Amino acid sequence: MPSMTASELIGRDRGLLWHPYAPLDGDAPYAVLGASGVRLDLGDAQGSRFEAVDAMSSWWSAVHGYQNPTLDRALLEQAGHFCHVMFGGLTHEPAVRLAEKLVALTPEGLEHVFLADSGSVSVEVALKLAVQYQRAGGHGQKTKFLALRGGYHGDTSGAMGVCDPVDGMHSDFSSLVAGQLFLPRPPAARRSEIAGGTVGEVLSQELIADPGEVAAWVATLEETVARHASELAAIVVEPVLQGAGGMYTYAPECLAAARRVATEHGVLLIVDEIATGFGRTGKMFACEWAGVVPDIFCVGKALTGGYLTLAAMLCTSRVADVITRSPLRALMHGPTFMANPLACAVACASLDLLVSQGWQGQVSRIQSGLAGALAPAMALESVTDVRVLGAVGVVELDRPVDVPAVTRAALERGVWIRPFRNLVYTMPPYISTAADIATIGAGITGAVGQVHG
Ligand SMILES: *Cc1c(COP(=O)(O)O)cnc(C)c1O
Repeated sequence: MPSMTASELIGRDRGLLWHPYAPLDGDAPYAVLGASGVRLDLGDAQGSRFEAVDAMSSWWSAVHGYQNPTLDRALLEQAGHFCHVMFGGLTHEPAVRLAEKLVALTPEGLEHVFLADSGSVSVEVALKLAVQYQRAGGHGQKTKFLALRGGYHGDTSGAMGVCDPVDGMHSDFSSLVAGQLFLPRPPAARRSEIAGGTVGEVLSQELIADPGEVAAWVATLEETVARHASELAAIVVEPVLQGAGGMYTYAPECLAAARRVATEHGVLLIVDEIATGFGRTGKMFACEWAGVVPDIFCVGKALTGGYLTLAAMLCTSRVADVITRSPLRALMHGPTFMANPLACAVACASLDLLVSQGWQGQVSRIQSGLAGALAPAMALESVTDVRVLGAVGVVELDRPVDVPAVTRAALERGVWIRPFRNLVYTMPPYISTAADIATIGAGITGAVGQVHG
């Protein structure tokens, strides 16, 4: 039990702690007094308490909910052995077991694993690997990256460089961020609609886009990569679903085309599955929507079920072999907390839970539930689009969301959300019940309607 009350916590936080992308003296945060299953116990500065379904899964990560007994046990068991040891010159069972599981779970051909301490760091490692690969192969001038408008790959400098260049998040940092190349956002795609259906039917739906728009985008891709092939190390994409850049689903054919064009021009394909991985879009990994195997692959967020910070970069043997035969022989990165044993142990338990609890059934039930529960939002005047893919639901407004007001209105309906720009969205924990999903849908629709009409 916390020894401070919510109002005391919030008062002492103010001016002391920075929160993500928020001013020191910004809107007061809510205090977390407890968390269990899908529920957060929150308090505000005035002493009000809210019990709320966490519709965000703590930013894509807490897929099995809070105080999950299996994950708690894995963490405590490892703590009984050792919490951390350096990874330079040493190895340990949690790291070996996790790497083997990741190789088995990820698309065929990804065989080598680098364990990093956050998603952004895994993206840095992926970018460095691509540059090292090109140099080792005699292409030292291939150092640039081609990324997508609307993309998001993290907050560290290298990762920022491949994020959408005009999105305000990184606009102050042009001196840190090398001039990378960008393609327009690929054309939007929608799920083919089916009524009801079995788990298999629900999850084997297709993503459909306008063929003319796809052909035009692919032509731009081909032309851009051909023109810049001599300076390009890799193409970097979030597969099929762009997250923090706008919760936007695009045509899988465009991902498949990126794979083909990259190969034709000696350019690597880096797929960032940090948000989309581990079943979130209805496939274990979103690159399966296009049947694509990338050269380099990043996962994070849900990897530990949201318990601890951990990410992984995987690559093919073709890429790894070039590094091993190069003068340096090593991938030039090595964080202090690389392969943290506690994080690896809980990640192993989380991956096992995905399989043993049947993530396909969980995600397909959430997809169907969200589609029904968010549909009424479409009738609101402020709402321009409602879309659901896997266990991700998005309500898009014709105006910027009044974040404090909508957050509050949702909390009063028992739902924790964190909207941004003109988007109110949810990616619920996989353990959410049908009733939880109904609560989320009604909470979002009600809050948007109350605040924006
Ligand atoms: C969140 C995210 C990252 C960054 O991960 P952190 O753990 O926050 O550093 C990178 N790429 C994508 C697609 C993400 O959603």
